Parts: sequence; structure tokens; C-alpha cells
Amino acid sequence: MMERGISKRIKSIKFALLSPDEVRRMTASTIITADTYDDDGFPIDMGLMDSHLGVIEPGLRCKTCGGRVDDCPGHFGHIDLAMPVIHVGYVKEIKILLQATCKSCGRLLLTKKQLDDYAKERETIEDMGGGHLEVRLVTKETAKDASKRQICPHCATEQSKITLDKPTTFREDGHKLTPKEVRERLERIPDEDLGPLGIAPGVARPEWMVLTALLVPPVTVRPSITLESGDRSEDDLTHKLVDVLRINQRLRENRDAGAPQLIVEDLWELLQYHTTTYFDNQTSGIPPARHRSGRPLKTLVQRLKGKEGRFRSNLSGKRVNFSARTVISPDPLLSMNEVGVPLEAARELTVPIRVQDYNIDFVKEWVSKGPIPEGDGYQAGVNYVIRSDGRRIRVTDKNAETVAETIENGYIVERQLMDGDIVLFNRQPSLHRMSMMAHEVRVMPHKTFRLNLSVCPPYNADFDGDEMNLHALQSEEARAEAKILMKVQ
Ligand SMILES: [Mg+2]
Ligand SMILES: [Zn+2]
Ligand SMILES: [Zn+2]
Repeated sequence: MMERGISKRIKSIKFALLSPDEVRRMTASTIITADTYDDDGFPIDMGLMDSHLGVIEPGLRCKTCGGRVDDCPGHFGHIDLAMPVIHVGYVKEIKILLQATCKSCGRLLLTKKQLDDYAKERETIEDMGGGHLEVRLVTKETAKDASKRQICPHCATEQSKITLDKPTTFREDGHKLTPKEVRERLERIPDEDLGPLGIAPGVARPEWMVLTALLVPPVTVRPSITLESGDRSEDDLTHKLVDVLRINQRLRENRDAGAPQLIVEDLWELLQYHTTTYFDNQTSGIPPARHRSGRPLKTLVQRLKGKEGRFRSNLSGKRVNFSARTVISPDPLLSMNEVGVPLEAARELTVPIRVQDYNIDFVKEWVSKGPIPEGDGYQAGVNYVIRSDGRRIRVTDKNAETVAETIENGYIVERQLMDGDIVLFNRQPSLHRMSMMAHEVRVMPHKTFRLNLSVCPPYNADFDGDEMNLHALQSEEARAEAKILMKVQ
């Protein structure tokens, strides 16, 4: 029996950081070589296209799960970094942590009394039910108070001034701190002192903000494309990871060979540059990495951010089927309840008809006329027949008669729009409910939607190039609702 109502309720969410151990445990392969494919065009093991990370070519099988292109979701890999590198996404937090903790003993620069006061305050907030409001990784107030203190209350060491040279260079009284030194400092902060800083001990350690292992996304996230010429073109992320791998390799070799400190440091900085631009290629203070053509690479942050990014373009905004968009123009001869639909749009937009005893003969006859029935004026044709098993069959002039023969009860036939159909008409920005109203279709020549001038005010439309959207309703309920609730009057 299915239980009704809410069975689980989210009480809180904890944000964690990935530890290098966790990165290594969760990955399917260690990536060590910048090469991608061998001479025969197969992915090289431990390379960026390693088939343990998933497959993008039909026919090949994933070496981790055995699945083919459509079954395998892809698996992560990782690169072991020769030297630690600052994660650009966390520089703000790292700076605060360095300022708020002792350079020598690593303790939070607050007295016992101050800590007790914080604990009390926190309790009251939680009692008031406001505990869930704390979402910051590092709580500003605690950190601010702590960083004001010059002398450590625990070991009496005098503190020096921490500054940040954007994007990722930390300095202490002007002296440069290497990522390794930064990491060692963060390691010294005891778990007990993390709570007051707003970090959940057990699921996050501050030193994890300095990377020693870099996650490599599955190949499905960065598929290579084969050009018409037969050449392979790699994704921007892959290009960037190639750079990381090359420098990482050179850095390791030079360090192991005991090369001069200066050379090692230069390579280390280069590795920092490549990982930083791998995360965000618009980091201020450093030049963006570019293609040979001069186009800047699109890396992780660029995929997510902005209007064309994953959030606004792919997750909040989605394309809808059975809809059309074009320029609008006036037509005083239409009723205000009508909308003029261009013939070509009407042929593309469809309404489903369920085949039953009462209409089967009629529908068969209709389908046999194909997508563009002959006769005077516009006549709605049929674009698709959907069988009971869900298979879609496109109706063409050639197959119309044979498809019509196969129609049975339970099939769905998608017929084109015709005069009198109820559709929704919308002009953005949709500021009030009258921005979306129900209209009756009038199929017309030319390529614009036509509307009576008296409906311009609710849509706030004029004809200097305004475009509007039209949605063909797909169910009897939707049509009834639109007709009763959404008419212009
Ligand atoms: Mg306008
Ligand atoms: Zn797989
Ligand atoms: Zn101290």
C-alpha cells in the first residue's frame, strides 16, 4: 500500500568538502598521461579518455561497469598533483582561516570566554528555530573577532599580517607562502575549533581546500567530436586537463631530479595557473587560457555561469514541445478571441486524438490523406501516429495509406491545428495572468501571429517587432480549463 503524505522531512543540510582520500576512493582511474588516443584511435589507459571513465563511442564498452554508451553514466578519474595547489573557489575561506588561527599552534585566536559566549549565542539561535540559517562555510563574525587578535591566547605567539595577492598567492608580512605551507597551517587547526568557524568537523577539513588530488570528470561530460575531415576535436575541459597533466609531469620530474628551486617554483606556479583556469577561466588577475584561434577556453565556471549557463539556460529554462514563436502583427478583422496562426506553424503544431470505436473509421480516413491533404484552402493533416506500445510513426505522403490501415483502438493520432482549436497565447515578460490567455486558432497565410488590437493592452504588445508564444493544448482537460478560465473577456 502506498502511504499518503510526507514520509521524510529534510531537517538540515550539511555541506562537505571532498578529501583527497575520498577523491582517490571514488575514482575509477588515476590519470597520468596527457595522451588521449593511440594510433588505432582507441582510448589510452590512464589517459584522459581512459575507457574506465566511460565511453562515448558506440560499440565500445566501459571498463568500469561494462555498459555501452547509453547505459554507462560515466565515472570520475583523478590526477595526483606533484605539489599542492590552492583551489580558487576557496581562496576567500582560506584567507579568513589563516587570519583567524594562530601561525604557530593553529588554534582559533579566541579566548575560552569568547568561545563560551559564541556557544551560548548559537544555542539561543537554535532554540529560536533559527539554527538552520547558518549556511556560510566560515562564519564571518567569529572570524572577524579572531583575526583582530595580535597575540595568540593559547601559546602567546605574535601573529603576522596575512594578505592575498589575487588570485591565489598568500603573503605573510610580505613573504610568499607556498600552497604547501598554507596547507600545513590549515592542517594544524584542531577539529574543536572548526565548529565556531562554521565548518562541520568530520565532513570537512580546511586543508582540503588546498588540492593534492584533482578530480577528472567522466568522458561523457567532455565528449570529443569528430569533424567532417575525420579529425578529432577535444572538449575545452580536456584541453585544460592536458595542460595540467603536462606541467604536473614536468614538475614531478624536476623536483625528483633535484632541479634548482627557482625552476621548481616556476613550474609549480604554472600548475597553479592551469588548475585555476581549469576551474574558472575568467579569474581576475590572470590572463585567460586561449585556443590557438584566440578564443578563450570555456572551463567549469563558464559552463555554469550566466544566461547561457547550465542553471539559467538548461535547468530553470527549458524548451517546450507543441509551442511556436514568431513576430506579431495586427488584424482588425479577427475577433479578440482569435489568433491568426501562420499556415506553416499550424502544420507543425499538433493535437492528439485518441482512437476509439466511435472515431476509428473517420480517423483512418483522415490519416490516409497524409500530412498535406489536397483540397481547397487549408486542411489539417496528420503528422504522427503513435502505436499502443509508444512507437511513433511519422506520416508521409508515401506511407499515409499503409499507416492508416494499421490503426487500431488505443492508438493516438497527432493531427495538425485547425480553425477553432483552443491554444494559449503568451507575451513575455509574463507579469500578470493576462500575459497568457486562451485564443481560438485561425489558420492564415504569411508568417506572423495576428491578433486584434484590443488585446494589446493586457499583453502590453505593440508591433515594432514584438514576438509572442503559442502553445497547442494537449488534453481535453487543458482545453476545457483554458476555455472556461482563460478567455480574453
Ligand atoms: Mg515593442
Ligand atoms: Zn561505466
Ligand atoms: Zn598559538
